[in-house]
Amino acid sequence: MTHYNGSVPETKRKPDWRDQAACGGNDTDVWFPHPTNHRDVQAAKQGCFSCPVMFQCAQYALSSRIPDGVWGGLSEGQRNNIHKKHRTDEFNHLPVVRETVLHTLREELNPVTSLRDLWDDNTRPLPGGHIEWASESTHVTWRGITYTPKQLAFIVDRGHKAVGVVRRLPEMCPVVECIHPQHIADNEERWHRKQAEERAAAQAAARAQYAAAEQVAV
Ligand code: SF4
Ligand SMILES: [Zn+2]
Repeated sequence: MTHYNGSVPETKRKPDWRDQAACGGNDTDVWFPHPTNHRDVQAAKQGCFSCPVMFQCAQYALSSRIPDGVWGGLSEGQRNNIHKKHRTDEFNHLPVVRETVLHTLREELNPVTSLRDLWDDNTRPLPGGHIEWASESTHVTWRGITYTPKQLAFIVDRGHKAVGVVRRLPEMCPVVECIHPQHIADNEERWHRKQAEERAAAQAAARAQYAAAEQVAV
């Protein structure tokens, strides 16, 4: 199994993107790692990221539905996922391929950015600065993990997963359906808020006691 590369003796072939392939003439096995070997897959992808014809290569692999190997910076699994969402003829257009590849790589490199896309697509503002879930689905699944709307709000805003249950804070927001990230908290944040409230209450009580004692002294 080999990748296309410029050194293959295809004497009748017209010049095309393959002539600039970064993998041309290299050990092409590198671009056919075992799909579960994450390290090898990433090594192949790194080669693609500096390849001047990465998008053309991805276009070829997506249009031809090539099942194996890393092509155009995309693993087999990523191409499979793309095929589930796109018709093959969409890959006739290089700008579509480019956008699809970049979106896929962004998802891989920055999960929060992709979750933010899900957030933007599935929420809408409510009067008074609140936000509600606008999708008929009660949850979203991304990379095999399911999020409730409040869990999604939390991770997109805080940049990490919630600890325990995410709930609306009634003292911050009276709107039952609101999922505004600033109007919700997980177990850890609620615990810190409670601690801060107790500290503030203790300080206020101490101040009141001090003021009362001063009055008695006068
Ligand atoms: S993008 Fe990767 S697989 Fe495609 S030609 Fe370039 S180096 Fe080879
Ligand atoms: Zn609210």
